[in-house]
Amino acid sequence: MADEQIVDAPPDWDTLAEEIRCPMCDYNLRGLIEPRCPECGFRFEWPALLDPTRRAHPYVFEHHPERNVRSFIQTLLGGLRPTKFWTSLHPAQPSRPKRLTAYVCVTIALLVMTVFSVFVPLTISDLQSTAQFRRRLQVSAKRYPERLDWAVSRYGSLKNYLDIIAPTGINQPMLRRMLDETIGGPQRKLLIVCLIFPIATFAAMMIFQISMSRAKVSPRHVLRCVVYSFDSVVWIGMVSLVYASVTLAGGNMPNPGAALGDAMIIVGPIGGLFFAYRLYVAYRCYLRFDRPFATVLATQVIAFLASLRIATALFMGV
Ligand SMILES: [Zn+2]
Repeated sequence: MADEQIVDAPPDWDTLAEEIRCPMCDYNLRGLIEPRCPECGFRFEWPALLDPTRRAHPYVFEHHPERNVRSFIQTLLGGLRPTKFWTSLHPAQPSRPKRLTAYVCVTIALLVMTVFSVFVPLTISDLQSTAQFRRRLQVSAKRYPERLDWAVSRYGSLKNYLDIIAPTGINQPMLRRMLDETIGGPQRKLLIVCLIFPIATFAAMMIFQISMSRAKVSPRHVLRCVVYSFDSVVWIGMVSLVYASVTLAGGNMPNPGAALGDAMIIVGPIGGLFFAYRLYVAYRCYLRFDRPFATVLATQVIAFLASLRIATALFMGV
């Protein structure tokens, strides 16, 4: 008990030259005894603010540009245990908006890559059959010189002829088919909602916060909560990919796009709930709101309605 009191004891302000500010609202805390900001109401522990060795998080992506890949993976995995993650990250640990933006970009790139990788087996088999077809025509041109003469007289060379009727590599029709199957189905709506949802959540949280006593909380902290909860989309993409691959292997689906759409309709809402849960933990353990559940529930309802409205306007033109 005595030790706890020493740990939580206020600083000796006469000997402390450094300016100590509230990590939430930047209010100057000089002279305070109670570990609670009078401006925004944030409760903290003195050592978290006073100890310089605690200002860098052990692995979070924002703080470790010297090991990008490792810190990205650790942050992504760390988010799977939200309570541990949000109690290890403290608002006094500086937020780096550029690194947060980079984190979002990599997250979206990973989602897109995961979604398109459902086409990998089909693309490989397409490339193999194209190569086989070209070989057959080459053999036939050798066996029947009149066919070779015809190709040369019409297209300049056999290769030119083959390049027109059976182009090698990933070509335009292949890409168009992938886009039509991925972006043309119901998964397009889900993908767009996945991307609009965090933006709508951030906007709803900022509006909601203004209407509450915590209006002074800096947007960078809200952004942090939304960004680290948003990486749920990587897991949504990966689980959807596994689900789609299993249904495709079972022969129940006409094409990879349909299998992916089916998977995302099931996995997407579960991922959405996971996102909301992580946000709730962030509001409880990181921003330390008094009513985190009610706050997150209200913002998620607003974000859901806003995303639905935008998606409807985009797809139905109303
Ligand atoms: Zn404050």
